[in-house]
Amino acid sequence: MFLSDLDKEIAVLKKMGRYRFLRPLSTAQDAVITINGRQLVNFASNNYLGLANHPEIVAAFTAAAARYGVGAGASRLICGHMDIHAQLEEALARLKGTEACLTFSSGYLANLGILATLGGPRATVFSDELNHSSIIDGCRLSRSRVEIYRHADADRLEALLKTSKAPRKIIVTDSVFSMDGDIAPLPDLVALRDRYGAVLVVDDAHAVGVLPPRGCGSAEYFNLPPEAIDVQMGTLSKALGTYGAYICASKKTVDYFINTCRTFIYNTGLPPALAGAAIKAVEMLSAGTDLLRRLWENRESFIAEMAARGRPVESPSAIMPLITGGDRETMVVSAALYERGLFVHGIRPPSVPQGMGRLRLTLMATHTTEMVRTAAACVDELFGEEGLKAIGKKRYKKS
Ligand code: PLP
Repeated sequence: MFLSDLDKEIAVLKKMGRYRFLRPLSTAQDAVITINGRQLVNFASNNYLGLANHPEIVAAFTAAAARYGVGAGASRLICGHMDIHAQLEEALARLKGTEACLTFSSGYLANLGILATLGGPRATVFSDELNHSSIIDGCRLSRSRVEIYRHADADRLEALLKTSKAPRKIIVTDSVFSMDGDIAPLPDLVALRDRYGAVLVVDDAHAVGVLPPRGCGSAEYFNLPPEAIDVQMGTLSKALGTYGAYICASKKTVDYFINTCRTFIYNTGLPPALAGAAIKAVEMLSAGTDLLRRLWENRESFIAEMAARGRPVESPSAIMPLITGGDRETMVVSAALYERGLFVHGIRPPSVPQGMGRLRLTLMATHTTEMVRTAAACVDELFGEEGLKAIGKKRYKKS
């Protein structure tokens, strides 16, 4: 029985320095967390604005649970559709300036569903090589031909589009790349979409609630009209502090998804209590929360602190990739930071390419300036001890 071999496979992972394990937090997802009784400053979370445990979000969640209960009880198309889902979808469509919106139970399910619904044997999906794993799995599920283009390279993408004879062409990209923090060249991708009659799908998971000026996402950041991107996917689980996901698109597209998207149809509706919490989060963002300004101050202060130490980190988002290279170095530095009271997650293959291990340090609005300064000082010291340099990678510049 092959399960008896799992020990051997786990031993191999341990030997390679790729063994993964769970660490239980006994506190909320805050700037300071407790793991195994130990207090640590948290630089590993996607709770960018601190909304996951914000009193107003918790109150909205409780109020919605009191009124609608916790679970949706059924698929939205059976009897799990509640008016609170519709309100959340209206709020998200307003935030994004699109005609319509449809929520999903998670970003992973949304990406699987988008690609499986739009793809098919007559389609080719053109996918950035550093796209999130949920997009990679969506490509697989779509039964389409898949062309991987070099990271953020519109010229390479165009070369592939030019030679493609597929009647349906789908370009799919993260806007902010989850492990690199850089931003896709969206204006170029929009131009290619128009030139080659493609459909453009953008995953805004790490852009909404993060990118300036108002945190509405990558279209706003690049000053693109909402219709420039055919499907704007986003998650509620990062800066919006809750759970679930959505697509913002035209009415026609949303209607088509309601009728054909299997990860929407065959899945229980988003828990209404979460919908209530997410509505409050969207309201706070739409009203221009000060938390976005705090996040950007912390981001700028980390970049300045690192530059002052001769280790420039260029990232236009709240994700700072500090490249360590090998698996051993990644885990040594991450463990040493942990010993100093800082939780910065080490990322190894297969989450990133071989030899591109890194610390993925994320900033939050709830960090104090002192926490940010201490993080930069410790990273600098430990990179120095390991003889490492934080590699600044080539990034797309907003023109
Ligand atoms: N897309 C990106 C870019 C992500 O980073 C994530 C992270 O989890 C997802 C999709 C999946 O979202 P979810 O956690 O809601 O399933």
